[in-house]
Amino acid sequence: MQQYELAVLPGDGIGNEVMPEALRVLDVVGAKHGVRFEYRHFDWSCETYKRTGAMMPADGLARLRDHDAILLGAVGWPGVPDHISLWGLLLPIRREFDQYVNLRPVRLLPGVTPPVRDKQPGDIDFWVVRENTEGEYSQLGGRQGEGTPTEMVLQTAAFTRRGTDRIMRYAFELARKLGKPHVTSATKSNGIYHSMPYWDERFAAIAAEYPDVTVDQDHIDILCARFVMSPERFDVVVASNLFGDILSDLGPGVTGTIGVAPSGNINPERECPSTFEPVHGSAPDIAGRGIANPIGQIWSAAMMLDHLGLAEAGADVVGAIERVLADPSAPRTPDLGGRATTADLGGAIADAVKG
Ligand code: ATP
Ligand code: MG
Repeated sequence: MQQYELAVLPGDGIGNEVMPEALRVLDVVGAKHGVRFEYRHFDWSCETYKRTGAMMPADGLARLRDHDAILLGAVGWPGVPDHISLWGLLLPIRREFDQYVNLRPVRLLPGVTPPVRDKQPGDIDFWVVRENTEGEYSQLGGRQGEGTPTEMVLQTAAFTRRGTDRIMRYAFELARKLGKPHVTSATKSNGIYHSMPYWDERFAAIAAEYPDVTVDQDHIDILCARFVMSPERFDVVVASNLFGDILSDLGPGVTGTIGVAPSGNINPERECPSTFEPVHGSAPDIAGRGIANPIGQIWSAAMMLDHLGLAEAGADVVGAIERVLADPSAPRTPDLGGRATTADLGGAIADAVKG
């Protein structure tokens, strides 16, 4: 039997409530497909920070490295500044394991009411591929002339050839793999002088390697409007770090599903583990009550299955989520308008996977 070793980091708040549901679904889908998952639990969180002054032990990254993938819940808690949880755990993992793709599906699920109401499931079904390591989020720059009349701050974006080409290739490969024939590039070369014309240039060069995939490019402003007004036009959208950050929250927002949206921080070559985590945070306002929606975590686990090459198992889990959401008599957590618990909904999805 094929076996995978997974690092499990539930993190803070509802991360601890939704993670068990994802593991329960993994056990069921694993049994069905002849795959075994071995879980190693790490309790690194804001609690760890309060106790020890660090989000994870000094050898934390080394201890994660040998796993096939990392499943993360949510980190962050009131009283611990965001930069501590980010720079103390999430960003070091992304950087150390060269997780240069941030991938999010944008899909309208059945039984979920989108904010733009005339849309049906199937109308909104595409992927946002965000560059995750460079671009606008660089540490280049700094303050000059502080306290003087000429005080100013420079923030420099860095786009390397390697970094730009590899994210674009990933987008085109994804389009091919999914049988989605179209890639849209998020740009702003009419306003940003150096980096975005380069981005366009590399997009054209990589597109030439994929003659079977059609392309277009939208400036980020109109692209945002089109996410809302005409989401049917998109299959795969590739974007720089900043633009991708914005689009990858706008996408789930348009589908009315921030609470159920999944994401992957991916090292496509699988030389290092990739991290799969729900888009939502630790939700302190509902934590401890057992009412969090576990779908974001379960769908993240499905993305992990895809990444590990277990595409049929991944599709099984996504299909189960869709069937449960489409069934008016199935349990629903309060965010979906029902009164069910996290475990009720997780159990229903696990049962649906069993078939
Ligand atoms: P981040 O940690 O990313 O900064 P945040 O503070 O922006 O997160 P969340 O923790 O995601 O936000 O919470 C935002 C709102 O969404 C809260 O009201 C929370 O209760 C709700 N929410 C988030 N995740 C879920 C979930 N899985 N089920 C139900 N409600 C959720
Ligand atoms: Mg928060």
